Amino acid sequence: MFEAAPDVLIVGAGPVGLFTALTLARQGVRVQIADSAFWTCAHSYALALHPRTLGLLKQAGVEPEIKRKSLLLNRIAFYDGSTRKAEIPLDEPLAVSRQDALESILEDALNHIGVRVQWRSEVSALWPENGQVRAKIDSFERESRGYAIAHEEWVVANCKELEVPWVIGADGYDSSVRRAIDAEFVQTGAPQYYAVFEFESDEPRCDELRVALGEDTTDALWPLPNGHWRWSFELPYYKAARQLAGPGYFLTSRLRDHDPKPFEIPVLEESTFRTLLALRAPWFKGDIRSITWRTVVRFEQRQASQYGAGRMWLAGDSAHLTGPVGVQSMNVGMQEGHDLAGIIAGGGNALKLQAYNDRWTGVWRQLHGLDKGVHPSMHANAWISDHVARILPCLPGYGNELVEVANHLAVTA
Ligand SMILES: Cc1cc2nc3c(=O)[nH]c(=O)nc-3n(C[C@H](O)[C@H](O)[C@H](O)COP(=O)(O)OP(=O)(O)OC[C@H]3O[C@@H](n4cnc5c(N)ncnc54)[C@H](O)[C@@H]3O)c2cc1C
Repeated sequence: MFEAAPDVLIVGAGPVGLFTALTLARQGVRVQIADSAFWTCAHSYALALHPRTLGLLKQAGVEPEIKRKSLLLNRIAFYDGSTRKAEIPLDEPLAVSRQDALESILEDALNHIGVRVQWRSEVSALWPENGQVRAKIDSFERESRGYAIAHEEWVVANCKELEVPWVIGADGYDSSVRRAIDAEFVQTGAPQYYAVFEFESDEPRCDELRVALGEDTTDALWPLPNGHWRWSFELPYYKAARQLAGPGYFLTSRLRDHDPKPFEIPVLEESTFRTLLALRAPWFKGDIRSITWRTVVRFEQRQASQYGAGRMWLAGDSAHLTGPVGVQSMNVGMQEGHDLAGIIAGGGNALKLQAYNDRWTGVWRQLHGLDKGVHPSMHANAWISDHVARILPCLPGYGNELVEVANHLAVTA
């Protein structure tokens, strides 16, 4: 069955897909956005917006609402053992906002201009046809099955095909759009595992991100809105048990938001959390009241061999993955989505699309440390010189912007 096609089909309604859809729709482009998940994510996941991303959200008219639901951080502090070693005052704040709050605001803004996300709709095949792209979309519905013990299953209720001028793959790490353009997802560094704990504490509220650098670990303490906190501890020797993790990127995926079974994973026990705190952040004195969320996340470091081909283009985690502390994947992804939306809204000039590919490939080569070129003129302090390669990925931004932020690094001990 065929139906009237939009100008752009966006595959994936994570933060990048939603923001790209909003950017396009606000420029009068007809968008359709489909996601195989049942709803937006239900957790904080990537939790901070960089100043540059906030600037783009301001253009899209949603920044006031986001700031209202955010905690603004004005500093990043670095610790080594029990000593606070350095800090960076930020000229423009980082906005800490739960990823689910951000996604809801973006979805509401889309609804407001008449664009509804098609949840439970998986783009199962894509191929070039008649100078456009043909997409097959399967929609799922719950259906009751069985006699003796009745149970419900999600089944394909509807299968549609449409022909569309452009496809944007904002479909995350396991991107089907990336596969459709035959791009490789090249590993550019070793994967990192993190144990993530969100909890309530009596720790006095602060307006800074605290990063604890150990011998081979980078841990982060984020203050969250409503008196909550997040500790992310790097687990350098962690091996995911296949039967727990399954294949893929995250132990917790959106489809399993409500069934992560964290207590099957010993590293997530409260006693381990307290041991990690005592060993790696002895300066943290807050009382752990209740742990509200915990999970182990595997962060890979990868980059797509190309950002697009013909009329199918990528933005966000479909094109790159990296570690969590700098929150680069989502922020740079949203900036890519904005850039791509502008090019497509302007007619999709082939040279501009090639420049899009080159620009963001270059940014990610630098962020992944494959191309040098970021040379902050930091204080000639031995600790900073020894740690600069680990400090840079924790900072918001890339290129010159990153140099500017890094140049504010001030020694405190
Ligand atoms: C538990 C967890 C903790 C995290 N913590 C951090 C952190 O601390 N810092 C950080 O920077 N990042 C973190 N991340 C990563 C961060 O969430 C991602 O970088 C961000 O969500 C990327 O956004 P995206 O829109 O590109 O992709 P995603 O958010 O992955 O969205 C992709 C969407 O595409 C949909 N999709 C996939 N295939 C199809 C298809 N064929 N058809 C239709 N829809 C499809 C998926 O259902 C999904 O909703 C975390 C992620 C998880 C899961």
